[in-house]
Amino acid sequence: MTVSTPSTDIAANLTAIRDTLATEARSVGRDPDAVTLIAVSKVQPLERLEAALAAGHRVFGENRVQEAKSKFPALRERYPDIELHLIGPLQTNKVKEAVALFDVIQTLDRPKLAAALAEEGRRQGRLPKLFVEVNTGEEPQKAGIAPADLGAFLAECREQHGLEIAGLMCIPPVEEEASLHFALLAELARRHGIAELSMGMSGDYDVATRLGATYVRVGTAIFGERVKVAANDGEDHG
Ligand SMILES: *Cc1c(COP(=O)(O)O)cnc(C)c1O
Repeated sequence: MTVSTPSTDIAANLTAIRDTLATEARSVGRDPDAVTLIAVSKVQPLERLEAALAAGHRVFGENRVQEAKSKFPALRERYPDIELHLIGPLQTNKVKEAVALFDVIQTLDRPKLAAALAEEGRRQGRLPKLFVEVNTGEEPQKAGIAPADLGAFLAECREQHGLEIAGLMCIPPVEEEASLHFALLAELARRHGIAELSMGMSGDYDVATRLGATYVRVGTAIFGERVKVAANDGEDHG
């Protein structure tokens, strides 16, 4: 599928993408309800988020703690059933805020973060669902656990920190065939007894769904191009 330029009609985009997800899931004998669409709202104007909410959408993804904190507590007052996913890197000095704010943290990618999340979970008496980010392309500049190290990392999370790992997440290298990375992530999840798979973005959520994604993370195909921010505070906007 080539993804066409998204229309400015956010409700229509959501419907079209949900239809595609359902069709692709059925094409491989999967239950369409087993795939959840995460609307990635990072760096999008608030009115676009409001349009998605008005259309009945409730599952969102943000890649920065600070930005999510500036938008979602207020929105949750009107829409208490919002489900919020952190899909960007988490610094240990933001763990406290992240644990309080997010329903799912998809970017557990190092032992120090596992320890910090476990400790903060005990302190707050709550812990978001956790996904481990896997660096399927073994790119040196990219976050994530190398496939060969995943078994040891999962054991450390479970046994040393008592953390339950619900899913795996990956961001394939831009220049490579994404399907190879999705298939690898699905195989790793099978091997390690992990149920959830977060994979697929605007350009490849259809492929990801055929290969077993339980969450797809879609930004521009729903909201349109991200509005460029002038000031850079040093955090990666992806
Ligand atoms: C921004 C982002 C997305 C969404 O990307 P689109 O190409 O706009 O769909 C998905 N996953 C992660 C981790 C992101 O940072």
